[in-house]
Amino acid sequence: MSSPHPTPSPARTAAEDLATLQLMQDLIRRASVSPEDQGCLEIISARLAALGFRIERLTFGPVENIWARHGDSGPLLCFAGHTDVVPTGPREEWQTDPFEPVLRDGMLYGRGAADMKSGLAAMITASERFIARHPGHSGTLAFLLTSDEEGPSIDGTRRVMEILEARNEKLDWCMVGEPSSTDVLGDTIKIGRRGSLSGKLTVHGIQGHVAYPHLADNPVHSVAPALAELAARVWDKGNEFFQPTSFQISNISAGTGAPNVVPGELKARFNIRFSTEQTVEKLQQTIVGIFDRHKVNYTLEWFVSGLPFFTPPGQLSAAAATAVFEKTGRKPEMSTTGGTSDGRFIAPTGAQVVELGVINATIHKVNESVKVADAYVLSGMYERVMELLLVQESG
Ligand SMILES: [Zn+2]
Repeated sequence: MSSPHPTPSPARTAAEDLATLQLMQDLIRRASVSPEDQGCLEIISARLAALGFRIERLTFGPVENIWARHGDSGPLLCFAGHTDVVPTGPREEWQTDPFEPVLRDGMLYGRGAADMKSGLAAMITASERFIARHPGHSGTLAFLLTSDEEGPSIDGTRRVMEILEARNEKLDWCMVGEPSSTDVLGDTIKIGRRGSLSGKLTVHGIQGHVAYPHLADNPVHSVAPALAELAARVWDKGNEFFQPTSFQISNISAGTGAPNVVPGELKARFNIRFSTEQTVEKLQQTIVGIFDRHKVNYTLEWFVSGLPFFTPPGQLSAAAATAVFEKTGRKPEMSTTGGTSDGRFIAPTGAQVVELGVINATIHKVNESVKVADAYVLSGMYERVMELLLVQESG
């Protein structure tokens, strides 16, 4: 569309930034180790209810989710994220209590500071400012939040999307607040993710004495050429938006510990991160074909933890790029790197999905931290995305 961008809202005030900081601190104080929510969604629901959002709480066992919407018409812009965090790891390696946020030299420390309680705080305060200025915005502003992203991810976003699909409630645009930035805020926007397929391999042999190999069948010897072929294989060259598919052996073990015994069994695990050039079926056929050609006697269990997804450049990625450029002067790279995210459950419904968030350098580590100024600017970016997509300026 050729209409000019709606006029940006005035610069954020110190009081508005303080609201973002305080919400980040309140959320970090809740030790919401996956799938626990520990009251995070209660805090957020109260804020959204005060803005006039209609809130549905969808609880499945220990997993809590909310679906909240402001508006009835289309198009629908949804902000998505998770309140759960990964475990702290060794507490003695943390310089401060992981669940007591500490602000030091402009950095806020605590579990979830980057992944992704700063993102949540930024999207809530953005919507507070946006609705105050545009109470009658066009379309619908929505939130889909879960306490099960870091865990099994079954009763979280996946389940809520199934419910919304059954009701034919469609998301047009979904902004995921995961920490997408690499070195500086806004340098990277994710517009897709690779798929992840894992295999648990057991190779069967016959244990025996190393001096009598004709009486034994060494599973290390039988599988080694197949593994070498898999490790060296060029699966594809990727494409404009995806890195090439990669295969990695993550674990391998065989042997009794004794130097004179041929092992009777070998166990290995491997993982493939794959682009949209591949399918699960195609990968499985290739791998099984290689084991069979090398006459390996094996059993193999498969785990699909995510299919690849991709949102071609469109209105949402354009709005995100504009917001980043206006707030930072940066032109973000559109990337599909990194692990999987809940975007994998949303994109297949036809929604445009984009991830934009803070720097991910410390996520899942001890002493996780976020630059608080980045969270404030991120909140401004989210507000700008709301304006660009849900405000129609006449004349
Ligand atoms: Zn996350």
